[in-house]
Order: sequence, then C-alpha cells, then structure tokens
Amino acid sequence: MSDALTELHVRLAEISDLNAAGGLLGWDQQTMMPVRAAESRAEQLGTLGKLVHERFTDDAIGRLLDAAKPAPGSSDAALVRVTRRDWKKARRVPSELAAELARAGALGHQAWVEARERADFGAFLPSLRRNVELKLRYVECFDGYDDPYDVLLDDYEEGMTSAEVDALFTELRAGLVPLIAAIAERADAVDASVLHGDFPVEGQRALVRRVVERLGWSADGWRLDDAAHPFATSFGPGDVRLTTRYDPAYVGMALYGAIHEFGHGLYESQVDPALARTPLGEGVSLGVHESQSRLWENVVARGRPFAGWLHGQLREVFPERFGAVGEEAFYRAVNKVQPSLIRVEADEATYGLHIILRFELERAMIAGTVALEDLPEAWNARMRQYLGVEVPNDAVGVLQDVHWSGGDIGYFATYALGNLIAAQLWERARADLPDLDSALAAGDGNALRGWLGEHVHRFGRTYPPRELVLRATGSAIRVEPFLAYLNAKLRPIYGLD
Ligand code: ZN
Repeated sequence: MSDALTELHVRLAEISDLNAAGGLLGWDQQTMMPVRAAESRAEQLGTLGKLVHERFTDDAIGRLLDAAKPAPGSSDAALVRVTRRDWKKARRVPSELAAELARAGALGHQAWVEARERADFGAFLPSLRRNVELKLRYVECFDGYDDPYDVLLDDYEEGMTSAEVDALFTELRAGLVPLIAAIAERADAVDASVLHGDFPVEGQRALVRRVVERLGWSADGWRLDDAAHPFATSFGPGDVRLTTRYDPAYVGMALYGAIHEFGHGLYESQVDPALARTPLGEGVSLGVHESQSRLWENVVARGRPFAGWLHGQLREVFPERFGAVGEEAFYRAVNKVQPSLIRVEADEATYGLHIILRFELERAMIAGTVALEDLPEAWNARMRQYLGVEVPNDAVGVLQDVHWSGGDIGYFATYALGNLIAAQLWERARADLPDLDSALAAGDGNALRGWLGEHVHRFGRTYPPRELVLRATGSAIRVEPFLAYLNAKLRPIYGLD
C-alpha cells in the first residue's frame, strides 16, 4: 500500500470513529436520554459534526486521494472513488450555508411539531419557505444536472435522476390505481380485526424478541430498544441497534416494525468487516437500504409461508386471542389493503401512491410550479384522486411527515424504490433458492440471509447503487416485478379475476 493510501486509511478511520461516537449520542438521544439533556446533547452533536466536517473537507484529504494510486478494481479503488465523491460534495457547500441548513432544520422541526399539534399549516409555512429557499441555494452549489431536483435526489440515492424516478412512478401508478380500485370493491373480503384489541406490551416484547432472534438477531451483537420513532443503526461490526414501539391495542405495530428494522440492521451487520472504519462500510443508498427492510417486513413476514410460522408464535404468546384464529385468516389480516390518510400506516399496495404524491409535490416545490401556501390544497386533491380519501385537516394531511420540517427534500422517493428493488431481489433469491418457501414456513431465514449477504450486503458502498442492483438482480430498477408480486398475492386474497 502506498504511503498516501495508508495515511488516507488512518484519517478516514478516525473520521469514522467520530461519526460512530456521534451516532451513539444520537441513538441515546432517541432511546435513553432524559429530556432535560436535550440542550447539552445538541451542543455535543454540533461539536462532533463540526469536527467531522473540518477533518473530512481538509485539503489534505484531496492530496491523499490524488496520490493514493490504488490497484484498479481493488477495494481501495472503490474507497478512493467513494471518498472523492463525498469529499467533493461536502466541499461544494460553504460552511455558512451548511450551518444555516442545519439551524433552519432544527427550527423547522420545532415549528412543525407545534403546527401539526394545532393542524395549522400556516404556522409551518414560514419555516417551509425558509427550508425550500436554502435548498435552492444548496442546489446552486452544484452544476451539471438536468433538473435541480436531481441534486437533492442524489444525496439519498446516488446517480438517480428525477426523469428516471418519474418514469418508474408513472408506470407504478398505472399499475396500482386499478388494483386498489378493484380491491376497494371487495373491501369486506378481508377482516383484520384479529390484530386489534388488548395485547399487553410484556407479551408483545416476548413475541418480538422471539421473532427477531429466529431471524438472526443475537444479544451479543445487537440491541433491541424502544423508541417513539423507530429506526435501526450500527456503529461497526458487532454493534447493531434496533428499535421498535408498542401499541397495546394493535399487535402489528411492534411486530412488523421490528422486522422492518431487522432488515435494515441485517444489511449493516453483513457488510464485509474489512470495510469497517471506511466510507465503504455501510449501506449504499436509502433505496437499497429500504429494499432490505421491506423485503423482510412485507415480502417475507407478510408472505404466506412465514406468516404461517408467525401465526404459531402468536398463538403461543397470545393463546386467548389467536387460539381460534387460523393461519389463513391471520395471513389475510396482515395483507389487508385499505386506502388511508397516513403514509406510515399504509399497506403495501397503497403505500406507493402516498410516495408518488409526495414526489410530485416536492418536484413542484423545487421547480416553483406550486405556491407553497397552496400545498394543502394540492395535497388534498391528490389524496382524493389517487386514493379516494378525503383529508379532514392538515395534521393528517400535508403536515403528517417530519421530512420537510428538517429540510429533507428528495428523500421520499427512496421508500418506493425500496419496494421495487425488494421485489426484484426476491425474484432472484427464489430462483436461486428452491427450498426457500419451506424454510420460511419453518421460520428459518438462514438461506435468504446468506443470499442477501452474498449478493448485496457484503459490498457496502463498493459499487454505486445502480451497479449493485444490476449485479444482484440482472437488471436496472424495474416496476414490473413489484406489480407482479402484488397482483399474485392480493388477487387471490380478494378473490379477483
Ligand atoms: Zn426503513
């Protein structure tokens, strides 16, 4: 290894350690921290963030990247490519603008919390205006794009363009709308009431723990804690943190939420340990990350084979509730399709329309083709058009998501891309693993875990997301496998055709 490459590794490892320390502070903030620590925690996170930014954007990193000379095709060549990309992007944004974005995001978050409580979009409007203005200034720091929104997308999904997402979403919408309409005609065919009622949290904890342990969670390398807004994170090999939240009146929230986060955690846990403490040692993009969580949550855990095993677990933990409920009734219940107001509670089929709505509005916000004060109206009109749902107030409409309050514009599309990639991976994995269904029917996710590790996880950020998807599935991101999967599952459940 050249001296420059060695020094680059040393510097990047230190930055990675600082990031991990900041990540741990953030995990603590959302799981353990007493509320009065909020101010001091913000200072600590600010200091660490500043240290990381200074160290990473240093001229010396650029000199080391130029001098590194890694062997072509090696892991170090990927390291240099990814680090140069991150370094250039970070240096494009003046530190005053970066600080202003962070500050406006924090203030916007507070304004959003209050505005949502009062269902008062007008109270949030000045913050949103500020966030959009700053994002437009952020876009101006870059060049060489066709559409300003591409710059924002690229922060979450490297190399993805608005035009590509638009084409995918047009096809997705054309497939979803008639399927959902046909299901709506037969809405009563599925009864999900078995999932609602009295489910003591202690029982749910035992259930969730049992399920994630069967999937690959282990106490010596993982944690599972409570959080108001569930997430998964990792601070290096052997340290994956999952969170979930419990609703004593609905057993699906904690169970499926934990399986979702398990998918994220598994991805991080199976990145090649040799990539640890480098920019390559984590998931490659939000879309690919979300494909992992949704694969386990929806495709596996709402799929017929695994749902049978899951039903057995529920029967053991809650015999009085599930004693008289058959596997098939449970499987149908967890796949109920119901157009609704709230994205995070949406089923697998309607979810995509919630995302398409947000993507369209975000593009219009950045292009200036919708006046921000008209957003509630634009939102409500699309909810009516796409889902047939009337929005009673902005708290459950345009104000429902946290993203825009913090300036996260360009993020939403990755959720739906995750669903598409998950279906493509599933198609491939099933072809490669003929015994997959019978393994999952026994609650055994080993083979699938191994397959994902081999084809997706181990590479971390070695390949750009586009290339990773191509290598793992044999094609670019496509809509057709997802629609085929949804139709194959939902049409028999609802007795369509
Ligand atoms: Zn997720």
